[in-house]
Amino acid sequence: MNLLNVDTISETTDKLKKYCPFISPKTECVGLMQAVGRILASDLVSSENIPPYRRSTVDGYAVSSSQLGAASDMLPTFLNVAGEVLLGEDSSGLSVGSGTCVYTPTGGEIPDGADSVVMVEYCESFGDNMLAVSRPSSPGENIVQPGEDIKSGELILRKGRILHAQDIGILAAAGITSVPVFVPWSLTVISTGDELIPPEEVPGPGQIRDINSYTIAARSIREGLRVSRMTALKDDWETILKTLEDAKADSDIIVMSGGSSKGKKDMSSALIKAAADCGVITHGVAAKPGKPTITGFDKKSRTMFIGLPGHPAAALMIFEQILIRIWRDLTSQSEESTIQARITSNVGSAPGRRTFQLVSLTKSDVPEAMPLFAKSGMILPMSQADGYFEMSENQEGVRAGDLVEIHLWK
Ligand code: AMP
Ligand code: MG
Repeated sequence: MNLLNVDTISETTDKLKKYCPFISPKTECVGLMQAVGRILASDLVSSENIPPYRRSTVDGYAVSSSQLGAASDMLPTFLNVAGEVLLGEDSSGLSVGSGTCVYTPTGGEIPDGADSVVMVEYCESFGDNMLAVSRPSSPGENIVQPGEDIKSGELILRKGRILHAQDIGILAAAGITSVPVFVPWSLTVISTGDELIPPEEVPGPGQIRDINSYTIAARSIREGLRVSRMTALKDDWETILKTLEDAKADSDIIVMSGGSSKGKKDMSSALIKAAADCGVITHGVAAKPGKPTITGFDKKSRTMFIGLPGHPAAALMIFEQILIRIWRDLTSQSEESTIQARITSNVGSAPGRRTFQLVSLTKSDVPEAMPLFAKSGMILPMSQADGYFEMSENQEGVRAGDLVEIHLWK
């Protein structure tokens, strides 16, 4: 892997999008409760006014405001109660005329002739259907007009939106019960290494527990992606190749970690060449951490391959920078949340490589970002970090006190 031949992160993602158009996610329509947390696949417009009718926001009496004049406690206006609006029923049989009013509960349809509602608190009933009103009212008071919440033809939710509870509420309100969403990629996640054991085992000499299949699968699940298979395999050509071949049948993406550099047992590049009919597209990414990264694709099975570095922090960061960015881009998701923070010490960059620096944040007027330096292979700093900032390929580093843009971990 020659530094001169490596691709930048954006070249890597551009090539994958260009050579693997089949990874553009499909869409499907699901019911409201299946849509929770899914990504909306098209703009949605309301075909109706919401609310559909003039609606009272209070329990009170629908009146014509001009009838009340300057009503007060001392000099109330007396009105005749001509009827009562019932919730869930139309008020067309009722109307408010000279000297009359109609009782309406919250949410009731305002009858003809009324232009406002006086709260019950300002009204006193007495005698047969008589009402004393001790406050004036103005046109429109305590009424929501048709379409005041959402107008017919209004854009209510944009493509790329992750559907939260309030969005499901909008869909319910607008009567949209079949929701177009993106179909998540299906991923196979493979860790490779003779030294790896499952988390439930106790490491013997030279052994470590597999981290990468868990971090990559967990990150995928957090992003709404589907993990169809996760496994840790020894550095054995036949076993890994067989797993890759099987995975091609049911996965959109195969993510393999470990064995991506130039060690004796590093064979992920050769394995991708063997398993993918179009071989390797990128071998080496100008990133720190994460240089030994390999991508490739298989046209016949429409599968994209990525070989991540073995070091857990590098594997997760590169997965984030390449796969998650492509997914977010293809699903029209708006940029992730970032905040400005002042860096607390000088941080150097790796010349010619995009550098990703973990930080933890302290809260003050302008948040401060403390760099967390992780020795190769360490995982705790990844978890202690609130996020990271980037230094571009030709940036020389940052100085203590500089403002940097922190990408917050999701
Ligand atoms: P490799 O790229 O296979 O040479 O691995 C680089 C370093 O990352 C080695 O120290 C490995 O032991 C370590 N490593 C590789 N895969 C994993 C994994 N799945 N979990 C934890 N550490 C790993
Ligand atoms: Mg290895």
